[in-house]
Amino acid sequence: MAKISINLATGSFQKEEIIVGIDLGTTNSLVAFINPDKNPQVINDAGKGILVPSVVYFNSQNEAIVGNEAKEFLTTDPANTIFSVKRLLGRSYKDVAEHKDIFSYKVIDDGTDALVKIQAGDRFYTPIELSAEILKELKARAEHALKTPVNRAVITVPAYFNDSQRQATRDAGKLAGLDVMRIVNEPTAASLAYGIGLDPTEQKTIAVYDLGGGTFDVSILQIQNGIFEVLATNGNTYLGGDDFDRAILNYWIENNKLDFAAVAADNILMQTLRLKAEAAKKALSTQNLYNEQVGEIWCTLYKQTFEQLITAKVDETITACKNALKDADLTSADIDEVILVGGSTRTPFVKQAVENFFSKKPQDNINPDEVVALGAAIQADVLAGNRSDILLLDVTPLSLGIETMGGLMDVIISRNSKVPTKAGRQYTTSIDGQVNMKISVYQGERDLVKENRKLAEFDLKGIPAMPAGLPKVDINFLLNADGILTVQAIELRSGVKQEIEITPSYGLSDDTVEKMLLDSIEFAQSDVEQRMLIEARSEGEQLLYTAERFIEKHAEHLTEEEITETKVHIEALKTALATQGKDTILKKADELNEFTRPFAERVMDAAISTAMKGKKIE
Ligand code: ADP
Ligand code: MG
Repeated sequence: MAKISINLATGSFQKEEIIVGIDLGTTNSLVAFINPDKNPQVINDAGKGILVPSVVYFNSQNEAIVGNEAKEFLTTDPANTIFSVKRLLGRSYKDVAEHKDIFSYKVIDDGTDALVKIQAGDRFYTPIELSAEILKELKARAEHALKTPVNRAVITVPAYFNDSQRQATRDAGKLAGLDVMRIVNEPTAASLAYGIGLDPTEQKTIAVYDLGGGTFDVSILQIQNGIFEVLATNGNTYLGGDDFDRAILNYWIENNKLDFAAVAADNILMQTLRLKAEAAKKALSTQNLYNEQVGEIWCTLYKQTFEQLITAKVDETITACKNALKDADLTSADIDEVILVGGSTRTPFVKQAVENFFSKKPQDNINPDEVVALGAAIQADVLAGNRSDILLLDVTPLSLGIETMGGLMDVIISRNSKVPTKAGRQYTTSIDGQVNMKISVYQGERDLVKENRKLAEFDLKGIPAMPAGLPKVDINFLLNADGILTVQAIELRSGVKQEIEITPSYGLSDDTVEKMLLDSIEFAQSDVEQRMLIEARSEGEQLLYTAERFIEKHAEHLTEEEITETKVHIEALKTALATQGKDTILKKADELNEFTRPFAERVMDAAISTAMKGKKIE
């Protein structure tokens, strides 16, 4: 049975809501979907190109410009042009300090372990917000090209990303208005694109070699029962095609007997040469000589010379492959397939080095800079339940989730997920000093928990009293191969923990499952309306709570008039909450938010900024 959704633009029912696959890359990002012929396809909206450079530029009005247009500001306005933000995602200043020289924009060092912020113009942005800008652009392109709202996505991350980096990616998706159905490892997506792992009886060990613009990683995966296990990863997050460009640039400077410092001081010349170097590198993937001129400067390069220039870097990637194999306790003979990922694997010298090392011809039929997005689209299709052929038995028939503010269902494991599966999300408190959190587990497809089936309820007790929004409660669902669900809640700051075991399918007949699914279709429209109203109310109430506490706590930073005016906005929002619909509530909330934003910036309170993040459980 396929998922049904409503096209909000046309009001019509829509079968098989499209879930897109997104490769959120360090250098380039792109989005793919499964086309009506059931094939994965990358989106090229209005011929703007498939790859969206992962660059965000903020103009003087603080508006974000993303992609190729933003890339043009790398030389003219480097301080406000953010590239490689993926390297900062889920990281603290300490994590990246060693490489701070590569960032031409301001990465704020607040001397703590907190996550980094980036300054552009007079504003500060988190890497999550910046990544969300890239995702918004991809979402918009997908919606424009497919002529349908796109609300759900699978987003890929490197296999070595830790929980905080994965969570940050998920949050970026949420901020961009996407329900992130799953975070998938890039090497897993790449193998899916090659059809590896789709057959549950298949058992394989594969190596995925990914050389992108600024990063390199190799992953060894074992595939068994349709489950991907990462045996080892290795690599260098500061090694990639950019290094090849730099090597060429340096070679030309030397060859033309130019003074490096003098060239480096000339931003425009430097950028022009850098772009020529990249063009030369790409050309040499298919020809033997590149020969052009920039003014008086000869940009000549033979393929053989290029290969000498990059030998040391390529050797480094091979050493990483060796180490990965060693960590996985394997030899190259154990590897069944080698997959090439990343634009830089188009360089024949790289391909050859990989082939030599593994003594095997690597898979390279699929465009290496599209393969991850294509695989993500396949994973999305699997999650949408459109691939019954590969999802016969080992799936969970109904979604599993917990109750969040306003009685809404927050799905943690979506229906048709293969089991065993593990998923989790982070929550926080909505009230200051809250020491208990009630966790109610539900099963079903409806937006309101009261329409779904309650499986269990328990209390996470003993959370130390903290301001609202500060506790970090991880809720993890583990569904084993027998369909038994373990729900674990843990408050990360204190370590308090609670766990229960449930059998979700217990007492559920096939007829009941079918009825629950049919109901979710029948009531989809009213569910959406109710959900939007409830979300607006929760948002409004949360804002009221925050604003009221804010003027209480920080009265000394505010003028008399500011306080009075804030109270007027607060009253207006209260009235809207009591008597009005979603639109008025959101409008009044927006007005209050806009009015108080400058104060909040004035009194950057850590607790409040954290409270803005994450969903709250009552
Ligand atoms: P990321 O995954 O880091 O976002 P990509 O996979 O998009 O990056 O790879 C980008 C890199 O691939 C850039 O360094 C680019 O110059 C390089 N690249 C793209 N096309 C070619 C080509 N034909 N030959 C060699 N390198 C290429
Ligand atoms: Mg990549």
